[in-house]
Amino acid sequence: MFGMPTNDRTVIVVEDDHNIADLLDVYLREAGFRVLQATSGERGLELVDQHQPQMVLLDIGLPGIDGFEVCRRLRVKSNVPVLFLTARDGEIDRILGLELGADDYVTKPFSPREIVARVKAILRRGQPDISTDTDVMHIGDEYRVDVSRREASSANEVVPLATREFDLLAFFARNQGIALSRQQILDGVWGIDWVGDDRTVDVHVRQLRKKLGDDLPLATVWGIGYRLG
Ligand code: CA
Repeated sequence: MFGMPTNDRTVIVVEDDHNIADLLDVYLREAGFRVLQATSGERGLELVDQHQPQMVLLDIGLPGIDGFEVCRRLRVKSNVPVLFLTARDGEIDRILGLELGADDYVTKPFSPREIVARVKAILRRGQPDISTDTDVMHIGDEYRVDVSRREASSANEVVPLATREFDLLAFFARNQGIALSRQQILDGVWGIDWVGDDRTVDVHVRQLRKKLGDDLPLATVWGIGYRLG
């Protein structure tokens, strides 16, 4: 995906509602993307195989296999960013809870402009990080965060983390000893143009604690947010 010329950015829209799909099509094309539409999950998966898109916009309620299943099958073979288009609150909980490796979600009804902004933000995040961050950070004696390898380990055992969980851990590690508000965390990890709610942070913190264990010195700072170390 690195260095891909802007005129070669393909987005696949998997959405069975033609009005929504066509609207996204118009706005994304205007923003310079090549758009391919699929009205079923099966067709969407085929298109991903054939065209290696830069991003997939994925509806959840689809004929045949649903968006969750599409994402699951996609993740077996591809790291392509997935932006879920959700219609209900319960779906958001599932996206966050199932750790499907979705990169983001938007709730319907949404504005096409918002989607375009979100797509661009996700693609920007996919660019290589040229910051001068220390590559390896330590959290106490037990934990190690290797940014170049994107690897977190606890007592020398690698702990598999989802993309955003790793980003969150690295952000905490970079800001050890500082009480961070949920908004600061959202801005730092999800990006300033991400339109989400605080619950996203809480859910990811819960996952980090679960995966990294009780020794992780990640404290809840009441009324503020969280502090590592
Ligand atoms: Ca639908």
